[in-house]
Amino acid sequence: MLTSIKNKSVIVTGGSKGIGRGIASVFASQGAKVTLAARGEEALKAATKAIKGDVRYELCDVADWDSVRAMVKSTANAQGGIDIMCANAGVFPQTRIIDMDPAQWDRVMATNLRSSFLAVKACIPYFAKAGKGRVVLTSSITGPITGFPGWAHYGASKAGQLGFLKTAALELARYNTTINAVMPGNIFTEGLQGLGQQYLDAMAASIPLKRLGAVEDIGNAALFLASDEASYVTGQTLYVCGGRSLGAG
Ligand code: NAP
Repeated sequence: MLTSIKNKSVIVTGGSKGIGRGIASVFASQGAKVTLAARGEEALKAATKAIKGDVRYELCDVADWDSVRAMVKSTANAQGGIDIMCANAGVFPQTRIIDMDPAQWDRVMATNLRSSFLAVKACIPYFAKAGKGRVVLTSSITGPITGFPGWAHYGASKAGQLGFLKTAALELARYNTTINAVMPGNIFTEGLQGLGQQYLDAMAASIPLKRLGAVEDIGNAALFLASDEASYVTGQTLYVCGGRSLGAG
């Protein structure tokens, strides 16, 4: 049993959909105060309504410094500081290198990698004031471990998060703050549903544990990394992929 995170102030970027919504649900179910941050207001409203617990939302573009800074400040005012930042938002448009517009490369890097830096930078004053803090990044096995045609920019951004993580862990230690990354494999989200049952079955068959991950699987891993019990874990990665990163299916 982990020490309760009741009343802790949590931000989940990309909390309106998919994995972020799963992370937010797990934290809210444990009594945390949770802010969902994303760009689309309809999905934010729907998620805020659907998730049981103390949940609010902020409109935010995670690639934009002014937007992130304002979101973190407003959340700190509403929730009494920042205890846990789950920097999860990400995009994965699929385009082969030969067709890739350089602007698309920049957009993916800004949304997936620059956003990690901005989220951490914006939270440091609050962690410093509190004398503690937690950051959980959502990376991926795609990039750090595997490649996939069409995801050169995505894979580079996800591997880049791990380079950022190592130095950030060293710099955040002085604020008694840890930063770690969850490494999802194939997680069942709304987006995946459109691929069809046959595709999903084939995907599940290639995973050693023979099932796609649930968004709550990532939420539970993030909860551990954000817990008091994980206070001596920093700069690390936690693979939540049903054994997929091991190579054999
Ligand atoms: P998703 O269902 O498409 O949700 C993405 C979330 O990020 C949405 O809430 C979206 O809301 C938000 N977002 C996107 N761009 C944003 C921006 N510029 N500013 C603020 N919010 C933004 O994606 P997902 O599958 O849950 O993926 C979430 C994370 O998990 C990503 O970092 C992804 O790389 C990682 N991941 C996913 C899988 C998987 O199997 N699903 C596997 C490995 C890693 P708006 O568009 O409204 O802003």
